[in-house]
Amino acid sequence: MPDIPGQGLIKGLGVTLRTMLRPAVTVQYPHVKEAPPTRARGVIALLEENCTVCMLCARECPDWCIYIEGHNDKAPPRREGGKPRTINLLDRFDIDYALCMYCGICVDVCPFDALFWTPEYEYSEIKIADLLHDKRRLGEWMDTVPEPPPLEAGSQGKLKKGPAEARAKNR
Ligand code: SF4
Ligand code: SF4
Repeated sequence: MPDIPGQGLIKGLGVTLRTMLRPAVTVQYPHVKEAPPTRARGVIALLEENCTVCMLCARECPDWCIYIEGHNDKAPPRREGGKPRTINLLDRFDIDYALCMYCGICVDVCPFDALFWTPEYEYSEIKIADLLHDKRRLGEWMDTVPEPPPLEAGSQGKLKKGPAEARAKNR
């Protein structure tokens, strides 16, 4: 079949027109904001009182972007007449979101429920150094941690101190 002059141009305009008439699949962020799924991995929150400074999360992080420092201290015995206990206190807990790849390993390996995902994603910074969140800032994210799904009927899991209690405490 002989080539019609301008055939390619007409075909291209047809594709453009079809695409223009389709409903948009993107939104005009930041003027329009989509709600991420509840369990989205936006940022990690720290419940400091649950952290025992065991260092497991920092050791398992593939990017080495968790920085923890702590020290030992003496605490009163649990029972009268007992020996004073040695406890670990957290001095520093930073996550560098300029390095983090959001794999979630730190949240999964924490044996004491001290780390939680929150769907918040608006923490971009002009200076890359400001993507280092210290324990105060990581603690503030606790207010945005979604409630865990309810336990299955019949189960009697022992509930550890989690986001709900932390929120109540901060009120
Ligand atoms: S999500 Fe992954 S990369 Fe980010 S701090 Fe946790 S373990 Fe490290
Ligand atoms: S956040 Fe969890 S894994 Fe990391 S040091 Fe604290 S208790 Fe250990």
